[in-house]
Amino acid sequence: MHAVVIGAGIIGLATAWRLKKDGWSVTIVDPTPGNGASYAAAGMLAPASEVVWGQSPLYSLMIAAAQLYPTFAEELATASGHHLGYAQTETLVCASDAADRQSLRELCALQTSLGLSLELIAGTQARALEPALGPGVTAAVRIEGDHSIDPRRMTDALQALLTESIVRRRVAALASDGSRTRGVALANGQNIVADQVVVCAGADTGTIEGMPRLPLRSVWGDVVRLSVPRRLQPIVTRTIRGLVRGRPVYLVPRPDGTLVLGASVREDGVDGISAGGVHQLLRDIERVVPSVLECEITDVTARARPGSPDDLPLIGRIDEGCVVSTGYFRHGILLAPLGAQLTADLTRGESGDADMLTAVDPSRFAQDIRKGDSR
Ligand SMILES: Cc1cc2nc3c(=O)[nH]c(=O)nc-3n(C[C@H](O)[C@H](O)[C@H](O)COP(=O)(O)OP(=O)(O)OC[C@H]3O[C@@H](n4cnc5c(N)ncnc54)[C@H](O)[C@@H]3O)c2cc1C
Repeated sequence: MHAVVIGAGIIGLATAWRLKKDGWSVTIVDPTPGNGASYAAAGMLAPASEVVWGQSPLYSLMIAAAQLYPTFAEELATASGHHLGYAQTETLVCASDAADRQSLRELCALQTSLGLSLELIAGTQARALEPALGPGVTAAVRIEGDHSIDPRRMTDALQALLTESIVRRRVAALASDGSRTRGVALANGQNIVADQVVVCAGADTGTIEGMPRLPLRSVWGDVVRLSVPRRLQPIVTRTIRGLVRGRPVYLVPRPDGTLVLGASVREDGVDGISAGGVHQLLRDIERVVPSVLECEITDVTARARPGSPDDLPLIGRIDEGCVVSTGYFRHGILLAPLGAQLTADLTRGESGDADMLTAVDPSRFAQDIRKGDSR
């Protein structure tokens, strides 16, 4: 069986790798592999600190994905011979004033009620763990199970394993015989025939002709990468997330000593780097870890997260020859092993986990996406 996977972000690549391991022949089509949202992502694997009110179906997906991660990361590192920057150190979520401390307490209660393991500590205890925390940090939550990985290293590793299967072209349209998808038409006029087409084109999924209209939106994020002067190393030894007047900010230390500072969340249509977005990140992190301002900026990136109305992915069958897997919003790196598994199950025509597939079915928005129903 042959699958064409549209999109070489973390989701397309992880799905293609999975199908290949199951004996499928795969072709992955992308003009700029690994350069979408996955290129910007900080790589927090944070089932607990990403919990927000009113998203209960998402919690179980995040927890299930986090459980798959150690095996997934080990298999990928072993098969590719690449280091993935996988850090299984805890996360510290810090509050920077009384109102933020109260929000943190309430969120803690929700997270604990879901069975997540965490510990609320005072600002002084947090500074004993991370001396670079600013004097304004008045409380923090230790979350043992929230880890991180380097998404750029992951997509590099996956591309190395799939290099002969990658075609650097843009897909213009799905190729259909009128009743089912039979392959893809490339922007250069070439066609590729396939038994199954798997659409993993992130926020650009809607630009492919022949795709049903999905409720997808682009949620832009600016993210800053920094190197730390030798005299300050290491500034922090675990992921630091902060709440600053209700705004989230985070700092992820990489095993190579560099830092990732993120991320703005904006739907202003500015598809390049936003000056205001970067300014706010620097201003907010100054409250939480002031010495970050002594570091050197090495990279600033802005990319669009593929958002859905309820922040859950959109994974489902479009017709007998086509499956879509997108809408991973701010959790695509965490959800990648699980999303790839569910998408591969659908592609192979296997039943998969019925509860999870129902939760992510794109038709949940009162619209049947199977071809012919809505464009
Ligand atoms: C600033 C920022 C920080 C983030 N931090 C985290 C984090 O800490 N943890 C986490 O879990 N998630 C995080 N995310 C979210 C995560 O990055 C995304 O959910 C995930 O990368 C989505 O992966 P994807 O493969 O669906 O999309 P993408 O990575 O965007 O890949 C889609 C690919 O499809 C290709 N494509 C598009 N159209 C076509 C076409 N017509 N033909 C061929 N190819 C096409 C594109 O070139 C692209 O390479 C973050 C996102 C951002 C922006």
